[in-house]
Amino acid sequence: MDFSFPEEIQLLRRSVRDYVQGRLRPLEEQIEREDRIPDEVIREMAGLGFFGFPFPEQYGGIGAGELGYCVALEELGATSSAITNLIGAHTGICAMSIYLAGSHEQKQQWLVPLAKGERIGSFGLTEPEAGSDAASIRTTAKRDGDVWILNGQKQWITNAPIAGTFVIYAANDRERGARGGITAFVVPRETPGLSVGKPDEKMGLRGSYTAPVYLDDCRVPATNVLGQVGSGFITAMTALDGGRVSLAAGAVGMAQHMLDLSVQHAKSRKQFGVPIASFQAIQWMLADMETEIQVARYMVYQVAAKIDRGERVSHEAAVIKLFASEMANRAVDKAVQIHGGQAYMKGSPIERAYRDARILRIYEGTSEVQRLLIAEHLLR
Ligand SMILES: Cc1cc2nc3c(=O)[nH]c(=O)nc-3n(C[C@H](O)[C@H](O)[C@H](O)COP(=O)(O)OP(=O)(O)OC[C@H]3O[C@@H](n4cnc5c(N)ncnc54)[C@H](O)[C@@H]3O)c2cc1C
Repeated sequence: MDFSFPEEIQLLRRSVRDYVQGRLRPLEEQIEREDRIPDEVIREMAGLGFFGFPFPEQYGGIGAGELGYCVALEELGATSSAITNLIGAHTGICAMSIYLAGSHEQKQQWLVPLAKGERIGSFGLTEPEAGSDAASIRTTAKRDGDVWILNGQKQWITNAPIAGTFVIYAANDRERGARGGITAFVVPRETPGLSVGKPDEKMGLRGSYTAPVYLDDCRVPATNVLGQVGSGFITAMTALDGGRVSLAAGAVGMAQHMLDLSVQHAKSRKQFGVPIASFQAIQWMLADMETEIQVARYMVYQVAAKIDRGERVSHEAAVIKLFASEMANRAVDKAVQIHGGQAYMKGSPIERAYRDARILRIYEGTSEVQRLLIAEHLLR
């Protein structure tokens, strides 16, 4: 399939693919077993620019834009989901909040170390009582002279156990909620009053950490406010638009890997004296996987290119997030069926993907929330 990519993006795809196949693929079982990405791999990926794909070089990135970022995440989607999760939360929603709303000075101070991978980033929006209804967050921000005092609890915050920089969303005015009542703050890990709880035990995504983040009279300088006081909800939603597109790119990569493994297996596994690939039932599953992957892939590229042109993509981001996340779940399910009992055994990459794919329909806005957004757009 050809989408007319500039030479730099084609080169980026090849180098990320080589890194996945040569370096990350052999580590997949280890990451799963030890439930961690080796530190040296994180350092190595930082050196390769993996933490700053979309950002301009001026801010420590590699200047690949949203399209280059999505192509890279598509390639990374073919390996351990811990990697796309680490990079997606760090880049697509944490660092992106700073890129979208920060001043030049704030970008120099906070975005550059994030984009270079010198610090890992976390995006703190969700709370125990505020998931899909993110505007109802209860973490408060009260101004006291030159500082803001944050109090509250964030839940399931990706990268929190290893993060150096948090973007925390807090209510400066709970009455106003989404309409001017939420503010984004950059909170460095060493800030007194910020603490990270025990990492959560999850169904999948082994090697990727989530944890609660506590804010107890956490005093943050007023210079750490991103954008205007009260503009945080717009920042969060705009970052999530891009986050949903890159999440969809990772889902395409995962589904493609499932298809590649299924084609190989269908050709080599014999039953009734012939490869199972000769059965039409198997061929149709492969054909359906291919069809849906191609549709999702093209739409990811189209929406990413729109972001790079500075256009708003909330509607398209909801469409592609919904389609690609559900498509990846269907693809993994078919891969299990094609591999039979072998896919059900621990240690199989298909079994791992089956657990990992499930989260795609939940985080960064559930499938139901995407449908709500799509319907709202249609009925406006
Ligand atoms: C592994 C993991 C990592 C995460 N990482 C982060 C992170 O880094 N930062 C962060 O801020 N958050 C993070 N989250 C939180 C994630 O974004 C939320 O889980 C998600 O937004 C859904 O919220 P909820 O789980 O509380 O579900 P709920 O909002 O309680 O929803 C439960 C069910 O009700 C449905 N529902 C809710 N409202 C409606 C409605 N109006 N109409 C129809 N159906 C509805 C939902 O679709 C869902 O099916 C993470 C979560 C997980 C599990």
